[in-house]
Amino acid sequence: MLLIHNAHLPSAQRGWLLTDGTQIAQMGDGDAPSIEAAQVIDAQGGWLLPGFIDVHVHGSAGADAMDATPDALTTMARFFATRGVTGFLATTMTHSEIAITAALQNAAACMGKIKGGATLLGVHLEGPYINLKVKGAQDGQYVRTADPAEYLHWLALNVIREVTVAPEFPDNVGFIKACVERGINVSIGHTQATYEQVNAAIELGARHATHTFNAMTGLHHRNPGTVGGVMASELVTCEMISDTIHVHPAVMKILVRAKGVEGVAAITDAIRAAGMGDGVSELGGQTVTVKNGMATLADGTLAGSVLTLDQGFRNVLAVTGLSPDQAWPMFSANAARQIGLGDRKGRLQVGYDADLVLLDADYQVRQTIVEGEIVYTK
Ligand SMILES: [Zn+2]
Repeated sequence: MLLIHNAHLPSAQRGWLLTDGTQIAQMGDGDAPSIEAAQVIDAQGGWLLPGFIDVHVHGSAGADAMDATPDALTTMARFFATRGVTGFLATTMTHSEIAITAALQNAAACMGKIKGGATLLGVHLEGPYINLKVKGAQDGQYVRTADPAEYLHWLALNVIREVTVAPEFPDNVGFIKACVERGINVSIGHTQATYEQVNAAIELGARHATHTFNAMTGLHHRNPGTVGGVMASELVTCEMISDTIHVHPAVMKILVRAKGVEGVAAITDAIRAAGMGDGVSELGGQTVTVKNGMATLADGTLAGSVLTLDQGFRNVLAVTGLSPDQAWPMFSANAARQIGLGDRKGRLQVGYDADLVLLDADYQVRQTIVEGEIVYTK
């Protein structure tokens, strides 16, 4: 049992929370009742929020989901914990069937809480069924349309919780349907879908947009494009890379205002270079250079980010002017809901998993708790 008191919660300016085993057992405002807890933490007035959830992250700290090793996922999970992240989707790159299968099998074997780190909630399959013209930093030689002979094996591994797909190709419609049937979050991305094609995809069950504005047709007032389609729909949650590089701060603010704090999922899209400083790195078999916090391919294309989600949180507060009790769902609840875990993760609620982040007065991570266990202390 863990008792955290003197904390600023979304529900109370000064409150407390008690865990029991892996779950939140009791909460309240004011002084905590006298409870015999194994461990007591004085939050000193700092924010206690649901642990951050990143549904679009390739790697960090030198490791990448495509390494397809348990070590890589452990390295990532432990690094994320230092940044307040309690759950993540290991995100694959557009690559060969063999390489993607290996990454999926590895993730399937490592699913769940990773010792000393965040919980691996599953995989975000980014591509390979995308539009070559907006491949971003995905390797074009592997871009293809969906083939059931390939994806049915992947889906059978039961590890994929989100897919990024370009809906404008007829071959991809069957894939979208197969994912929706299995409760997988279908995300429109790396696409040149028209407004009409976006709406057709929503009709099929797509409910998410991948790194909104990046690698999709932009908004024109007489031609709403992909961006217009996903922004106009109340059904779609928009991923937002919150590094202020992939999306201009003004446009971050516009997106949050248009979608509301329930309609945005902040992500990092981080790569193995995250947490490693400037230098040469790798993404999907391609060389990446990181300079001044910007990761690019040789031709200048942005190649994911080196963002961490705690920095994203601070960025979003600064850009939008929202307070933590307004902004927090963009960092946990919305992602959990989108990937089908909204009934047990992403909220501070009795009976929910005790996935928590405790912040100090500057919104720096002080402590991270995953399923009731302290995995990081500053
Ligand atoms: Zn990505």
